[in-house]
Amino acid sequence: MIPNYFKTYPNAEGFFNEYGGAFIPPILESEMKKIADAYFTISKSHNFISELRSIRKHYQGRPTPVYYCNRLSEKYHGRIYLKREDLNHTGAHKLNHCMGEALLAKYLGKKKLIAETGAGQHGVALATAAAYFGLECEIHMGEVDIAKEHPNVARMKILGATVVPVSHGLKTLKEAVDSAFEAYLKDPINTIYCIGSVVGPHPFPMMVRDFQRVVGIEAREQFFEMTGELPDSVVACVGGGSNSMGLFSAFLDDNEVAIYGVEPGGRSLDKVGEHAATMTFGTPGVLHGFKCYTLQDEQGNPAPVYSIASGLDYPGVGPEHCMLRDMKRVNYDVILDEECMHAFFELSRLEGIIPALESAHAVAYALKLAQKNPHSSILVNLSGRGDKDIDFVLENYELPK
Ligand SMILES: *Cc1c(COP(=O)(O)O)cnc(C)c1O
Repeated sequence: MIPNYFKTYPNAEGFFNEYGGAFIPPILESEMKKIADAYFTISKSHNFISELRSIRKHYQGRPTPVYYCNRLSEKYHGRIYLKREDLNHTGAHKLNHCMGEALLAKYLGKKKLIAETGAGQHGVALATAAAYFGLECEIHMGEVDIAKEHPNVARMKILGATVVPVSHGLKTLKEAVDSAFEAYLKDPINTIYCIGSVVGPHPFPMMVRDFQRVVGIEAREQFFEMTGELPDSVVACVGGGSNSMGLFSAFLDDNEVAIYGVEPGGRSLDKVGEHAATMTFGTPGVLHGFKCYTLQDEQGNPAPVYSIASGLDYPGVGPEHCMLRDMKRVNYDVILDEECMHAFFELSRLEGIIPALESAHAVAYALKLAQKNPHSSILVNLSGRGDKDIDFVLENYELPK
């Protein structure tokens, strides 16, 4: 698509064309610059790379497999493959960037990791990384999400992290980000803010993408080895956009591969507050220190967002996605809650794999693509497992016959 894509984007100021950058208070500017400079040197060093590789293999259990869904493919007429990030240690793709961020923190001599979490997956992954490296860990989480995702809250506590409940606004992910940022601002010397996706000020969208690239690099090679060709389509759900950037980044140059990012359509696309389809309905704005498509209310404030999947309800989206949308390299579309739930049960019943509700959005889209294009091959990023969601599902849905 673009020669030297990874050397071109982002530019030195962290821009992916007009998106990204760092819109932050002056006291943070020098800290972010320090992190960016350190990242450029450290992440290219032999020691860092070999330590991270060893962690990926011996601790995380990588490479995760690519799996061909026999029964699902038969029923929906496509050839559906899953990149099994649900089998990554802690059950989702997030450990890929958390181990990277925590390793960087170790090299920088930081003592404490601070972050927000939505579904709790990022919190668990970061608490895991903190335990591995012997660092303190403080996780900010909206009260609504705490109630919905209590097994993950328990995991964080068992892993030794402090969970800080956030009780203002909608009490979900956006407020948790604000709260974590505030805590970080109090002591940017000894702490590091470990963002949970390809969002936030430069250098985070770039670093998190780089740490997630392992997903796409593995998947592209594995798929080719299994089939002798590249997939016709690759599909991933987009909240902040990290699991999707990880998968997509390996296919950007393959013009014959169609790329689909799936956003949460929630209960309805007709009303603000009922969905979190940032790419589909958003307008460019600044949120949490970077420029991206955002869902805004009439006053220009971040709009309330909703999704059945806590990990997807964010009113912004990674800047690289915004650029790839404008370039028309990636197609963005939506899946409603009910379509997500249908896919959740289909994958569970036909393949014996319970997906995270986030990942079920991508599966639902793959089912649509398969029905539209029989025989075509579709590679889906199964970003996480659904164990965290089972109580919620049982309380709110009837099991299919
Ligand atoms: C957090 C999460 C997501 C959404 O985050 P991205 O940064 O958009 O990938 C998707 N799937 C799972 C399982 C998650 O935990």
